[in-house]
Amino acid sequence: MATEHYDVVIIGSGAGGGTLAWKLAQSGKRILLLERGGYLPRERDNWSTEAVFLKSKYTTDETWVDARGKEFTPEQNYYVGGNTKFYGAALFRLRPEDFGVITHHGGISPAWPLGYDDFEPWYAQAEQLYVVHGAAKEDPTDGPRSSDFPFPAVQHEPRIQRLSDDLEKLGLNPSHLPIGVMLDQDERGNAVHTSKCIRCDRVDGFPCLVDGKADAQTVCVDPALAHPNLELVTHARVERLETDASGRQVTAVVATLGDGTETRFSGDVVVVSCGALNSSLLLLRSANDKHPNGLANGSDQVGRNYMRHNNVALMALSIDPNPTRFQKTLALNDWYLKGEDFDYPWGGIQMLGKADGEQLRGKAPHFLAWGAKLVPDSPLEMLAHHSVDFWLSSEDLPHSDNRLTVEKDGTVKLALVETNPEGLKQMRRKFESMMSELGMHDGLHERSLYLHEAMDIAATAHQAGTARFGTDPASSVLDTDCKAHELDNLYVVDSSFFPSIGAVNPTLTIIANALRVGQHIGDRLN
Ligand SMILES: Cc1cc2nc3c(=O)[nH]c(=O)nc-3n(C[C@H](O)[C@H](O)[C@H](O)COP(=O)(O)OP(=O)(O)OC[C@H]3O[C@@H](n4cnc5c(N)ncnc54)[C@H](O)[C@@H]3O)c2cc1C
Ligand code: SF4
Repeated sequence: MATEHYDVVIIGSGAGGGTLAWKLAQSGKRILLLERGGYLPRERDNWSTEAVFLKSKYTTDETWVDARGKEFTPEQNYYVGGNTKFYGAALFRLRPEDFGVITHHGGISPAWPLGYDDFEPWYAQAEQLYVVHGAAKEDPTDGPRSSDFPFPAVQHEPRIQRLSDDLEKLGLNPSHLPIGVMLDQDERGNAVHTSKCIRCDRVDGFPCLVDGKADAQTVCVDPALAHPNLELVTHARVERLETDASGRQVTAVVATLGDGTETRFSGDVVVVSCGALNSSLLLLRSANDKHPNGLANGSDQVGRNYMRHNNVALMALSIDPNPTRFQKTLALNDWYLKGEDFDYPWGGIQMLGKADGEQLRGKAPHFLAWGAKLVPDSPLEMLAHHSVDFWLSSEDLPHSDNRLTVEKDGTVKLALVETNPEGLKQMRRKFESMMSELGMHDGLHERSLYLHEAMDIAATAHQAGTARFGTDPASSVLDTDCKAHELDNLYVVDSSFFPSIGAVNPTLTIIANALRVGQHIGDRLN
């Protein structure tokens, strides 16, 4: 069967692949974007807690196993735009220190082969492209910027403004959370009538029914498809990559289409961007005589060093009601580089989307028992009306045994041991001790339904590592252009390349890197 040939074949349309497609579409080169999913259906369930959180309507139903062989379903969403259809769009830059060596309580976070300065111009472009709203100079850990945030910070609603004021009174430096939404605000922060985003309470974890969120589909794939040289094939699951006899060139991208047929594509350049876990899976499944341990895996590093953050979703109960709708507006990074009375970093805190009664109902016995002590006779809706919701995140460290492998029978295995838990524990304890000074009842409760059971191995929402970049082919998979050391035309542009993950959300760095690598591939094609 004839193979259709392109200048570039990109596999995966999420933050990495979608952004790269946008960048390269402007080059006039013939680009093919292959995506295993279809367009996410636009329907009322997009904004239904029951559909999204309780029934996991949109997540994959595939089954992987953990190191002990216990089955689980990874939290992954296969659609045009990838996981960004569901993300909270908190778009932070890594801190300059994250690019160097950081000593944590649990070990070393290694240096990147490039520094913050190398990424800065791409961060600035990424913020523009993904409509990031924020305020410079508020967050003490922010790196230097060549330009201000392209859009003004999303204003706090009154209860969150009070929280910000109370944190400042405690000598801390809360900042406006950088977030990618198409929100045009009036002087009070409300959405103006022409704003795509309506500033609702579905801001985190839900796909946006009105396309107001800057996800990879809305800001990259859809606009890029206006270029006739970009072609998108949906429901095209790439099974393996084949190489020439030398093993240096990918010659075929073999995909199963929606009707079950197998089709082959080829490109001068082939870019894998399936998300860190699925990209390593594709490379491992593409083993051949020249690459017996998996494509580009002479170093035995493919699939290893999987990282995902140590984090926890917590709910506090405000003494006064918290009628906030768009709650994801505040971040606190005072302990990002060093905890209090601790020689090592703790991490960062940011607001989560607002809990509703339905989300609490998923864990009703726990919440009712806890809430009844504080607010007697409260139904879940009343508790939710008082909830203030936080996300605490600290760095986990690369560990070579935290690893994705494919068993002989094809089963996908993900092994995970905890690294560096102490910083998160201490930050949680400290934050818990501050509740009364922040106008909350004592105590914090885990909101484990967010991210479908928090720290369970199935929580793969933030994923990085598995094919790290570096200058030494013996210890890294990709070079500093994110090209595989062992192949001449194979690149990876999702979060696989991260040597360490930092403690902020990873996606702005994926986007910035895709723009950086896109520039390199464009130059190479010319
Ligand atoms: C609920 C939730 C909230 C989040 N909130 C935030 C946040 O606030 N801030 C933040 O920075 N990050 C957040 N994230 C993480 C963010 O979504 C990811 O970091 C980001 O989407 C990763 O981009 P990617 O390109 O690496 O992978 P993805 O976005 O996962 O894209 C990979 C794409 O490849 C496709 N694919 C996979 N395998 C194949 C194959 N074999 N063939 C063809 N196509 C394939 C997939 O369908 C998908 O479209 C959140 C994630 C979730 C789930
Ligand atoms: S807050 Fe805005 S971007 Fe988020 S779901 Fe609502 S309308 Fe969409």
